Amino acid sequence: MQINQNLEQIQQKINQSCARANRSVSDVHIVAVTKSVSIERTEEALLSGLKHLGENRPEEMLSKQEAISIPANWHYIGSLQTRKVKQVINNINVLHSLDRMSLAEEIQKRASNVIDCFVQVNVSAEDSKHGIEPEDVEAFIESLKDYDKIRVIGLMTMAPNTVDEYVIRQVFKSLKTLQMKISEKNYKHAPCSELSMGMSNDYEIAVEEGATYVRIGTALVGEESEDLT
Ligand SMILES: *Cc1c(COP(=O)(O)O)cnc(C)c1O
Repeated sequence: MQINQNLEQIQQKINQSCARANRSVSDVHIVAVTKSVSIERTEEALLSGLKHLGENRPEEMLSKQEAISIPANWHYIGSLQTRKVKQVINNINVLHSLDRMSLAEEIQKRASNVIDCFVQVNVSAEDSKHGIEPEDVEAFIESLKDYDKIRVIGLMTMAPNTVDEYVIRQVFKSLKTLQMKISEKNYKHAPCSELSMGMSNDYEIAVEEGATYVRIGTALVGEESEDLT
């Protein structure tokens, strides 16, 4: 499928979700998760009008950045090893996976500018998922106030791997509640106005529940791993 056809369908569904939730479509940004597709396919995404790309492997992201001259906002969406921070941090616009103090310390040490970060929250409490436990998020964000290279723009989560829409919706609702609680504190270092949630299978629910960034891979750009060289 051509990306612009996929995008048209997805945008239509996002529009409908926004209408149901009484939200403005312009508040929802699509991050095209290009982590498993080729440079050509990634370029096709940008030519289709997408502005945000999501990657989760440092080496692959850097080689794409070198090869692609079309301007893009690069989002790092995967768990980030501390030793890879140096390689990655000054080459991205947004980090979606701030999930521990040691990572914050390394960012503080290596970043040359302020980095917009989402704090990743383990709402669904699945052992396999990374992220701060919901009850620890406030204290974690509070303790970032002296890290002047980090701006917490919002919270991110992954929904549990289930077809139960009710369960998925509750996870997104919880993240929204937590996000509002933190944004009310008016922290200078943590405006926390954004919500990164929703993937190919659950972005419509996420938009209904307040997502401002949806991270869509399979449904938008497909999986093309055979094209990886
Ligand atoms: C791969 C990935 C996505 C996209 O998943 P799809 O189901 O292909 O849309 C979104 N977020 C994160 C953190 C991912 O690793």
